[in-house]
Amino acid sequence: MAGKIRVTVWNEFRHEKTDKVVADLYPEGIHGQIAKFLSEDVDIATQTATLDQPDHGLTDAVLDGTDVLIWWGHMAHGEVQDYIVDRVQKHVLNGMGLIVLHSGHLSKVFRRMMGTNCSLKWREAGERERLWVTDPGHPITAGLGEYFEIPHVEMYGEYFDIPTPDSTVFVSWFQGGEVFRSGVTFHRGKGKVFYFRPGHETFPIFYQEEVQLVIRNAVRWAAPVAGPYTDLSLTANYKPNESFQVAE
Ligand code: ZN
Repeated sequence: MAGKIRVTVWNEFRHEKTDKVVADLYPEGIHGQIAKFLSEDVDIATQTATLDQPDHGLTDAVLDGTDVLIWWGHMAHGEVQDYIVDRVQKHVLNGMGLIVLHSGHLSKVFRRMMGTNCSLKWREAGERERLWVTDPGHPITAGLGEYFEIPHVEMYGEYFDIPTPDSTVFVSWFQGGEVFRSGVTFHRGKGKVFYFRPGHETFPIFYQEEVQLVIRNAVRWAAPVAGPYTDLSLTANYKPNESFQVAE
């Protein structure tokens, strides 16, 4: 492999500043914890970006140097500037991978990429979640068993208003009886998009081994592949590859 996969972990970084439970759980921020476990892999290089930085930390230079963008947001989706959403979308269409976590389902970026409401049912009761692997050949499931469990989560239930995914990698069951498509993949232009449900801020979910493994696998899956087209926004009038005559 030529060079490391360059990952930018984006976090709105608000709960950590206002909620002691979250601050104690993630003293370096949710972005800091995700970047930390990803950096343990020799083929991954990480940087972080947060909402309150200029351009939310997502300048064109940063995105030009990003192979995969990871997105965590919840309470401040509305503060994300539309020109940044345009910019992220442009980079995804041109090949940057995008991994959206948990409450990022309602982020402007994810809704732009999906084109739907991305609404769902939710409940904060600290119940157990069992994530079943429903696409065992998918690279995102490498190293997992048939299922894994997270002891305490916020429930997300169907119907999840997303377009039909390319692949549904995980389906979750919750103690309260609901189910949810917890890992779903999409292609948008040259870019790959993965939505992964776990990650509520008051539980130690980004410290759990299986969750980390899925995100590691997803980074490698979503990384861009060198291909024939440099910029999909370019269109061209095209001469035939073969000479031919149209019958009268
Ligand atoms: Zn949550």
